[in-house]
Amino acid sequence: YHLFSHPAEIEAFRKNLLAWYDKCKRDLPWRKLAASESDTNRRAYAVWVSEIMLQQTQVATVIDFYNRWMQKWPTLQALAKASLEDVNELWAGLGYYSRGKRLQEAAQKVVSERAGQMPGTAEELQKLLPGVGRYTAGAIASISYGQVTGVVDGNVIRVLCRVRCIGADSSSPAVANRLWDLADALVDPARPGDFNQAMMELGATVCTPRAPLCMECPVKHHCRASCRVEKELEFASRRLLGQAASSFPQAPDLEECAAAVTGICSLCPPATEPWDSSLGVANFPRRAAKKQPRAERTATCVLERRGHRGEPEYLIVQRPSSGLLAGLWEFPSLPWGPELKEKQQTEALLGHVQAWAGEAVARGCLRHVGEVGHIFSHIHQTYVVYSLLLGGDPEMASDGRDEELERPAFRWVTQAEFQKSAVSTAMKKVL
Ligand code: SF4
Repeated sequence: YHLFSHPAEIEAFRKNLLAWYDKCKRDLPWRKLAASESDTNRRAYAVWVSEIMLQQTQVATVIDFYNRWMQKWPTLQALAKASLEDVNELWAGLGYYSRGKRLQEAAQKVVSERAGQMPGTAEELQKLLPGVGRYTAGAIASISYGQVTGVVDGNVIRVLCRVRCIGADSSSPAVANRLWDLADALVDPARPGDFNQAMMELGATVCTPRAPLCMECPVKHHCRASCRVEKELEFASRRLLGQAASSFPQAPDLEECAAAVTGICSLCPPATEPWDSSLGVANFPRRAAKKQPRAERTATCVLERRGHRGEPEYLIVQRPSSGLLAGLWEFPSLPWGPELKEKQQTEALLGHVQAWAGEAVARGCLRHVGEVGHIFSHIHQTYVVYSLLLGGDPEMASDGRDEELERPAFRWVTQAEFQKSAVSTAMKKVL
């Protein structure tokens, strides 16, 4: 019931999907590069960069970052030579910052350990490259090398779960493995890269999470969820016309999973969560409830001074090289202790910025500006923003690193320099 049992149906599915893709696919820079680049390593690199950027980030946001990245580092060798600071600067604004760093580390590995030769299969890519998981490896290998291997990402999960009425928790390892099996069985052996991109494109543009466009869908005739919705609608309209009692059964005649009747199907929705007619095809996929992001508060201080030309300058300090937002720059900040009252917190913040301020600053000088909220993947962060305007000699605290006090690297930047620095979107909001 959940798989494709007839080879002819698989053939038809591939044919319909690819015909739609050829006609409707979006014109994206990495697709152009993958189609035009004749060197395998360069092609794989171009696809790899796009796949890493597209993780957790919308296509529309990625395009500009991708173009700038490929212009600056068109090859693995160029990226391997870049400084981490440059990588972070270009990545700033894309979010999930460790992705850029890991991409560069992996490029360095390919250049230093493999003389610039990319691993040649999905299995090797996943095994040898840090930051490359099963999905990314499959995408690079199918699109760049033509390896016949399926891929499963969020879009593909949605399409497959709907097409095959898979209602078990798609994030569980057992269900995920079955989805991979299904993707491997479906992928077109003649055009694996196009097929995989078509599945993802379908999920992104037609089989969308909330309002899927089933009427325009090229695989509608293979879709069990859509078939179920249509039968229910037909039944409802017949009932409305008063035909149900005489010529139509009590409930629509739906093809059901035979194993579900005995309660042993590992892919059907759990019995406790039956089909909800109001959701239609969006009954699938089902996921375990998401963990709520935890709330945190951080006090942050925008330290401002007059620069040489009278232009305002701001102090930014570098975060540690590991952990959240590793290596990025930010205004001096302190996590807000849960037990601290505002007065204690501002005193702590003042103590924190004192060394950079270069003069004794009274608490009254610290001005409360407001609050800025930002959601990182798992943290709902509220920045409580203060500003501190310094007078006096602009030379008093130059850029550098205070090794003795074990303070992080810091520098003074103008607003324009700030915008170009490796700072997070959250810090841009703070400014
Ligand atoms: Fe998704 Fe609807 Fe197409 Fe089924 S018919 S795959 S639910 S868009």
